[in-house]
Amino acid sequence: MPTTTVTPVEKNERSTTTMKALVFRGPHKISIEQVAVPRPGPGEAVIRVTLTTICGTDLHIVRGEYPVQPGLVIGHEPVGVIHELGVGVTGYKVGDRVLVGAITPCGQCGYCLGGDLAQCGGPIGGWKFGNTINGAQAEYLLVPSAQANLAKIPDDLTDAQVVLLADIASTGITAAESAELKVSDTAAVFAQGPIGLCATAGAKLKGASLIIAVESDPVRAQMAKRMGADIVLDQKAVDVVTEIKRLTGGKGVDVAIEALGTQETFENALRVIRPGGTLSSLGVYSGKLAIPAEPFAAGLANQKIITTLCPGGKERMRRLMELVRHGRLDLVPLITHTFSLDNIVDAYKLFGDRADGVIKVAIKP
Ligand SMILES: [Zn+2]
Ligand SMILES: [Zn+2]
Repeated sequence: MPTTTVTPVEKNERSTTTMKALVFRGPHKISIEQVAVPRPGPGEAVIRVTLTTICGTDLHIVRGEYPVQPGLVIGHEPVGVIHELGVGVTGYKVGDRVLVGAITPCGQCGYCLGGDLAQCGGPIGGWKFGNTINGAQAEYLLVPSAQANLAKIPDDLTDAQVVLLADIASTGITAAESAELKVSDTAAVFAQGPIGLCATAGAKLKGASLIIAVESDPVRAQMAKRMGADIVLDQKAVDVVTEIKRLTGGKGVDVAIEALGTQETFENALRVIRPGGTLSSLGVYSGKLAIPAEPFAAGLANQKIITTLCPGGKERMRRLMELVRHGRLDLVPLITHTFSLDNIVDAYKLFGDRADGVIKVAIKP
């Protein structure tokens, strides 16, 4: 019998509409699957992802080096268009273009209100996408605490111009900020992967007088100069500690930035800072990290060792977009390859193998 009322079956069909998403099923097991399109609860939003990317951290997850729950959609660097808004989210409308940071603070808890947005709710708690909730390598993405995290994209900026702000730029630039790098300070940046390159850009933005990058890969070394390095040292060809000391008149740099997460780079960063200098660490370490007593001056040299997780939230994203908008920061050259979401597993392989001069890959759902 025909009826004019909406039946529960139709409602169910709507709520189980599916989308493509990259699902982690265990170490070395990722594939595109059909999963339900998320629906926003109060204070949440769902965006249709228009551009995203793959992070080095995603590689750690896929290799089983950073544990997440099997069945999780991974990825944490979303640009998109608002698809659906939950109740209580004000000042936005469906269709607005938005950038969402990799870190999505609630904006309400003690950590957030104390200024530690990345540590929302507890250690590393601000990192939710592709860690504790479904992530961005999908056609649609649920954004928690939407009011604090949807950053509208100015009309004059493209998706490609802003996608790398979500994580690597926010993380990289924060190294010099956390170190309180002053105008005319000298800086050394260890490793010029995507985050190290952004750390180099950050040191330049903060006004360093001399930026020494350390990198042996020729493609990355060249990009380091483009991002603001004055000198790039190849750690395979020279003793970088001796060379950095020589370049700074025997003194050492004011700020050393570690952007790899190994004992060797951490130790070298410690060895090249001047007395009273700062080691600003971005790397993700595993196992044990040792501090040798000699470059640590037995703990008596007024050194500072600082760690920072990517700052998130919509105000951080707005500020970073303004840097791009006014020509202070251009990250588009870092996007060396583009893949469709259907081919994302190939993109993981290329990115993981560092093949074909890859720096970052853009993924288009
Ligand atoms: Zn990341
Ligand atoms: Zn919070």
